[in-house]
Amino acid sequence: MSTQVRSCPKCFQLMWLKPDQYEVLDDVFVRAKCPHCSSTVRFRLVSEGANAAGPKMGH
Ligand SMILES: [Zn+2]
Repeated sequence: MSTQVRSCPKCFQLMWLKPDQYEVLDDVFVRAKCPHCSSTVRFRLVSEGANAAGPKMGH
């Protein structure tokens, strides 16, 4: 895990999230609290490996 940079869907400011500032829900989604507007936001964790090429849907 590394620092995630995302723009908040609520206030549109960039969130720099250290590994201890977000919660991994499963291997796809993480949840974090926006440091600007305190909204709880969920975003997709994009890995740089094989999964980045396309969605992992069923098998
Ligand atoms: Zn925000």
